[in-house]
Parts: sequence; C-alpha cells; structure tokens
Amino acid sequence: MKPQTLPDEKGRFGLYGGRYVPETLIPALDEVTRIYGEAKADPVFQTELLRLLREFVGRPTQLTFAGRLSAKYGRRIWLKREDLCHTGAHKINNAIGQALLAKRIGKKRIIAETGAGQHGVATATACALLELKCRVYMGVEDMRRQAPNVFRMRLLGTEVIGVESGTKTLKDAVNEALRDWVTNVNDTHYIIGSALGPHPYPMMVRDFQSIIGREARAQILEKEGRLPDALVACVGGGSNSIGLFHPFIPDTSVRFIGVEAGGIGKLLGEHAARFDGGTYGVFQGMASYVLQDGDGQVVGTHSVSAGLDYASIGPEHAWLRDQGRAEYLRCSDDEALRGVHLLAETEGIIPALESAHAIGALDRITATVPKDGIIIVNVSGRGDKDVAEIARKEGVAL
Ligand SMILES: *Cc1c(COP(=O)(O)O)cnc(C)c1O
Repeated sequence: MKPQTLPDEKGRFGLYGGRYVPETLIPALDEVTRIYGEAKADPVFQTELLRLLREFVGRPTQLTFAGRLSAKYGRRIWLKREDLCHTGAHKINNAIGQALLAKRIGKKRIIAETGAGQHGVATATACALLELKCRVYMGVEDMRRQAPNVFRMRLLGTEVIGVESGTKTLKDAVNEALRDWVTNVNDTHYIIGSALGPHPYPMMVRDFQSIIGREARAQILEKEGRLPDALVACVGGGSNSIGLFHPFIPDTSVRFIGVEAGGIGKLLGEHAARFDGGTYGVFQGMASYVLQDGDGQVVGTHSVSAGLDYASIGPEHAWLRDQGRAEYLRCSDDEALRGVHLLAETEGIIPALESAHAIGALDRITATVPKDGIIIVNVSGRGDKDVAEIARKEGVAL
C-alpha cells in the first residue's frame, strides 16, 4: 500500500487524527486549515519563513559524522544537529512557522501550552521576534521543576499562567489553553507544540518540522552518495521524528525507528510508551493510541525527560505503524541516562534527555542494521536544560 501523506478531508490518517473539539472551535480550525493551505502554496510566505530559519534559527543545521560512535557500533552513524538551533531544540521550527501564519490570519494574540518549557520558550521567542502578544499555560508542578524556563519566557515578554488543575502538568496546560481559545478565538491563534491535536495541527506541525528531513536527505546524499538504511528519533508527541521521517516516505528502503519513553517499568503509569501499553482512544482533540485504563480514563505517565512524558502520540505515527512503515521501541530512563554519557564522552555533545533516548536505544537498533550500514540519529535538542536533573538522578550535588 502507498503510504498516505495527507490526511483525508476530515483530517484523518487512517483511523487516527480527526477533530474532537467543542463546536465553537470548528470555524477557527477551518480558518487555520484554509489559510495554512494558501500559505503553503505561496512563495512569498515560504521565502520569508526560510529567511527566518536561516538568519534567526541558524539553519541548515549540520549533519555531523559520529566517528567514535560509528567505530563502536560498526555502522556509519550521522547526527542531525537540531541541538544547534537557536533556543536549543527543534521546537523553534514550528513556533516560527505558526507565528508567521498567525500574522497572515490576522491574529495578534498567541497562546501556547508547555510542559518542560521548551515549546513555551520557542513560542515566546517567535512572538518577540514577530511582535505578537503571547501567553503560555504551564502546570504549576512543571513551573516548579522548570523554573529557569519560566524566567526565560518572562524575559522574552511572555505572560506565563500557572495551571492548578489535575496533575498540574502538560495535559492540564493543554486543557487550559483550549479553554482560552474557545473564549478568545476571534483574536487568538493557538500554537500547539507537537504533531498532535485536532486537524490541521498534526499535518501543519509536521510540515514545519519537515525541514529537518529535507535537509538531512540532501546532506546524506551529498556526504555518502546514497540514502541511509535507518532514521532514528525520539517520540514524544512526535514532531521531531515525523519531521525527520516524512521527506523519506517514498524511499521505501529507509527504515523509520521511533523511540518512546520506557520510563521505569512496564506497568501503566511507569512509562510513556503509547505503542507498548496504549490502546485506541480519543484525547485532547484527536484519535490515536492513548495510555488509558479499562474505563478509558487517561492514566499518569512517567519519563525522566519531560518532553516525552505524554499519554498520547501524533496520529500520523499511529498510521505509519499500522502500515508497517515505521517501527517503535522503548528506551528506559536508565538507558537514556547512559545515552547522555555515551554521546557526551564519544562525540563531545551533551544531548537533551529526550534525544538521549534515541542514543540509548542504539545498542538494539544497530544490531538490526547491516554492518557498515548508514544511520541518521536526530539530536532533537541540547542537554544544557537537563544538566541539573541528570546530576540529581545520579546523586551529584551541584
Ligand atoms: C519537546 C521535545 C521533544 C519531544 O517532542 P516531539 O514532538 O516528539 O519532537 C524531543 N526533544 C526535545 C529536545 C524536545 O524539546
């Protein structure tokens, strides 16, 4: 079967995706869909976006040959360096794209949710650059754990609102942002931070992140003269991974390997591996795999990395997996921490804890790739934000 790259007219990737939102949001989602479609086809919009990605974000990001890692595994391993993006992760690619789109729609106020604060900082940055008013919702528990990012957002002129409901974390921040959007939909655009939520977000965020895969494809052809055997990326909501994978969909010889957060165990609540414990359900505007109990109640999740700690996954991943086009495995907290040390000591790069899941799974992944085969690993972000947490986990006082 030919993989589907556009959702159908209802915004579905196979059984997944769609729009499960209050009626009042449908006109706004229709408007975003229509104007995004126009912007996508408009060379003026695309030229301006590319200019900002070059001059401000620092694209194209390098594809770095990981010589010592390659020697260790007997495979040719290349690193796509999203850690070198301004603000330290891939999230800015989407935040700038959607902020530009908001201006085109005529919306002057932006809202966003954030968990660890990476998407919040990226959105606050894009809004400062493009003169948009910005409010970010964040669970108060996350605000406590990620105090420096709260301060960063405020430095950038953004208003950060603490969310006291539920578990006071990311899913509660999403609920609060959706509530704000319902109330203020006339002047407000909601910048969702991953390839998730109601249509058109999964498609639109994927398109904005596909710059990762387009660059990587051209770079590997230039450096190796052929396509890679496998692409590897960590999967939270699924935006850095789908951004890397998507431009390679027609290249059927290239395997897609997504790495989910294996946390501390196999039981519900101990991990965020939606494909290894989740079931079909509806959550926060879309249908996908959801970590839920027998009554359909969404359960708590756990991961050492806040960016992977989410109970559902972007619908396009579920669809690619059903078709056998993409494979997913889990990487535990401990393996990810070992991944941080491995990349730091062999390549001089301290990865974000999220990205470290892709590194931590390399033992198992390389064993399934032919000797001297080519692998591209996405380093979705840099680890500076996680240094204190890593030290705490390892019992080191800073
Ligand atoms: C947010 C984040 C992730 C996870 O989000 P995706 O949408 O799955 O990419 C991964 N890496 C970093 C560095 C992040 O900030």
